[in-house]
Amino acid sequence: MAGFLPEGSAVMTSFLQQARAGVQGLAPYQPGKPVDELQRELGLARVVKLASNENPLGPSPKALAAMQKALANPLELGRYPDGSGFRLKQAISQRFGCALEAITLGNGSNDLLDIIARVFLGEGDEAIYAQYAFAVYPLSVQAVGATGVCVPALDYGHDLTAMAQAITAKTKVIFLANPNNPTGTWFAEADFHAFMAAVPAHIVVVLDEAYCEFVSDPAALNGLAQLGRYPNLIVTRTLAKAYGLASLRVGYGVASVEISGLLNRVRQPFNVNSLALVAAEAAINDDEFVQKTREIIAAGMAQWQAATKAFNLTSIPSRGNFLCVDMGTEAMPVFQALLREGVIVRPVANYGLPSHLRISIGTEEENNFAINGLSRVLDAQVKA
Ligand SMILES: *Cc1c(COP(=O)(O)O)cnc(C)c1O
Repeated sequence: MAGFLPEGSAVMTSFLQQARAGVQGLAPYQPGKPVDELQRELGLARVVKLASNENPLGPSPKALAAMQKALANPLELGRYPDGSGFRLKQAISQRFGCALEAITLGNGSNDLLDIIARVFLGEGDEAIYAQYAFAVYPLSVQAVGATGVCVPALDYGHDLTAMAQAITAKTKVIFLANPNNPTGTWFAEADFHAFMAAVPAHIVVVLDEAYCEFVSDPAALNGLAQLGRYPNLIVTRTLAKAYGLASLRVGYGVASVEISGLLNRVRQPFNVNSLALVAAEAAINDDEFVQKTREIIAAGMAQWQAATKAFNLTSIPSRGNFLCVDMGTEAMPVFQALLREGVIVRPVANYGLPSHLRISIGTEEENNFAINGLSRVLDAQVKA
């Protein structure tokens, strides 16, 4: 459809050119295909979606119960949510031992990334992130007119030494993802300290820990434990992955009280809705659910690793709830063939990984369905 103005009309191009250069240069974020759309398109009896790193168990049951309780009081849903998110912040504060004033709530942690960009970045500023890092960093950076500096990866992971060397007088923010999406790569605590020692104190470092709950290694870096040592650090986390609240859009950032004060000035006052607030408050303390999730993901990861090995495929070692598998060939036709098998995974060519597919770990049964589908696709490939 052509829209409201005749295509190519002078008036149209004139105002489109007013958009920030950084925005004109962005490719729109490609969300995964919705299950019902694929089912309708291809007339499939069953579709398994392993495309967006969601929790295959759905939400924490405690979160569900909290939302049901909130729904029993519909008049409250007609009101604006608590703009300060007091109860959720209190739960986070008690859980992780940080001050209430150190917390910023986000409409998903993506919202926090946007808020950070709006607070610290503008025209002429630079923000550093790694090659293959989360796609939202360039979105947030370019939307405010700043320049993204993408530093080549090392073995698909962050090259922290090179990232520190990429700092210039214009650098204001550095984004780190640990573990990273879509690669699942991570870095060790010692490497983080060496990196922070090389970063001038006026530069804000964002440590995105969207997948930290899946990391079982007790020696792994815990960003929240580093905040006392680095006043220029912001740690972001989400309820979307391990807690199963992806659709509700809720995340949090923790930083010095001073930085959090700035973030909270820019935050839209009602950015987290009432149901998300009560769900997150309940989920944060549902250890049993998070533990069960961790076990399912660990078992599913082993299942996928065994399958890829049997298929003679390599994958990037991952600490997330997903695995980036090298198809050894252009991945798009494999992705398309998997769709016809009722399996949705995520192509990552937009990340510069044209031969990989990112597969989110599902339940044992979902994994089996997808592995069987992949087996048929690979067989057909060999015969073709
Ligand atoms: C999923 C994800 C997030 C969080 O997304 P929200 O749903 O907005 O909380 C943040 N960072 C990375 C690296 C992710 O993969």
